[in-house]
Amino acid sequence: IIRIDNITKRYGPLTVLDGLSMEVLPGEKLALIGPSGSGKTTILRILMTLETISGGHIEVEGDQLYHMPKNGSLVPADDRHLQRMREKIGMVFQHFNLFPHKCVLDNVTLAPMLTKGVAKAAAEKRAMELLDMVGLADKAKNMPAQLSGGQKQRVAIARALALSPKIMLFDEVTSALDPELVEEVLNVMRKLAAETDMTMLLVTHEMGFAHDFADRILFFDRGKIVEEGKPDEIFRNPRQERTQTFLRKII
Ligand code: ATP
Repeated sequence: IIRIDNITKRYGPLTVLDGLSMEVLPGEKLALIGPSGSGKTTILRILMTLETISGGHIEVEGDQLYHMPKNGSLVPADDRHLQRMREKIGMVFQHFNLFPHKCVLDNVTLAPMLTKGVAKAAAEKRAMELLDMVGLADKAKNMPAQLSGGQKQRVAIARALALSPKIMLFDEVTSALDPELVEEVLNVMRKLAAETDMTMLLVTHEMGFAHDFADRILFFDRGKIVEEGKPDEIFRNPRQERTQTFLRKII
């Protein structure tokens, strides 16, 4: 469903992704792990078209994501193309990024109404189903500031799902949470993985969760994938020195 071929991403002199290639199969659950600054978040932001790339190709369902040269970068062809590609992908961020002045229900209905022209009643019906799925139907009229971090993150998941994406990206979604709130968010993700055939890419420092959740683990270091494999292979028997050193430090 995603094919990434030899992409590079530079910020001035800093090369953040260095000739990175990877493929993701439909329905696959992938966990991206690796040291801070290795480029994991950047790859998700690139897939979400929140960043340009410096070179290479990315295809989502056979469509090129970036192909117009502009100021030394590659960008999506035009706004309509960008919109069409973005509808395939939903993203949940570390810091929730909810609209603070909108209630929970409006946070979830806004994108379908604005970008897809869904009627208010239909958007609200779907939003309530999603809020029910994340266990927050009773908070629909609350403002984000009245919610705990775990609840905010569950709203953010419902909001990303409201556009019915085929691919969901989760960027360290539990790292800003108090430890006792982590599990409620992970449970929602477990449920999504079990009950849908969505493709899911997850950047995480929760190694236990990555092990149980992912079909495949990618270990990033310095803008490259150093090693990949099934969770048991990576966690029990990493082949590369760099993976071994990383895992020894954090497990
Ligand atoms: P972490 O686990 O800490 O989030 P990461 O593997 O997700 O790390 P990225 O967030 O992808 O790493 O960052 C990769 C590198 O790119 C880092 O060195 C970071 O400082 C740099 N970087 C990210 N965004 C920018 C930016 N807008 N301008 C300049 N450098 C950036």
